[in-house]
Amino acid sequence: MNRKYRKTLIAGNWKMNKTPSETKAFMTELKAMLPKGRWCDIALCVPSVCIPAAVRALRDTRVGVGAENVNANASGAYTGEVSTSMLVDAGCKYVIIGHSERRAMGETDADVNAKTLAALEAGLVPIVCCGESLEQRESGITEEWISMQIKLALANIGEDKIRKVVIAYEPIWAIGTGKTATPEQAEEVCQHIRGVVRKLFGSKNARAMTIVYGGSMNDKNAFELLAQPDIDGGLIGGASLVAEKFVKIIEDANQPTA
Ligand code: PEP
Repeated sequence: MNRKYRKTLIAGNWKMNKTPSETKAFMTELKAMLPKGRWCDIALCVPSVCIPAAVRALRDTRVGVGAENVNANASGAYTGEVSTSMLVDAGCKYVIIGHSERRAMGETDADVNAKTLAALEAGLVPIVCCGESLEQRESGITEEWISMQIKLALANIGEDKIRKVVIAYEPIWAIGTGKTATPEQAEEVCQHIRGVVRKLFGSKNARAMTIVYGGSMNDKNAFELLAQPDIDGGLIGGASLVAEKFVKIIEDANQPTA
């Protein structure tokens, strides 16, 4: 983390877990446990139907609510989809874009770019995911792959908006598998991502961009990962479903840094 130049963000990704009633119960538990420090931003990205319950429960807190996906179109015949304006009106602040689980369902780099542009236009903070498969890592093309994903995801974003984007480095082999990238592996790629952003948007924007790590981050390994200079937080799946674990990660992110 480097709090001098950028925000730290701890964001949960609930995926397809918890009902609206369970959301209300979880948020009540979470609120009672939240640390008082104000150093890091906190978000919970929840299933669409849980957004109203989450927004209601978190109204008087500094925890932002996010969605797990969005459609880039403004409105129309897109059965089952949700637009950026719907998310904003429902009280969302964040939206996850390009998660590997959605890419596996057919989301392309062009979709990720269109969704990112639409989210920024609507005033949402896009948490744009990138990451390599185990096969890609083992064949030595991780950096090349990530560079391509970042360039395509951030195409046509104006200099005025780029600092609102959060990038999440999520190696696919570490998501939901219990296999965390080592702090060194995660730092190496997050540093590389910052380098790509520097080439595209200049050093000031690269220095100001929040880049988080995701992939089996939990209450046991967060501290070491967050101690890396280019890891500005976490996107947390499984551990964000358990209030004590999520709060412990927030506390780790609130530790003073050198
Ligand atoms: C995720 O879904 O973005 C994620 C990182 O999941 P997990 O923490 O469970 O690996």
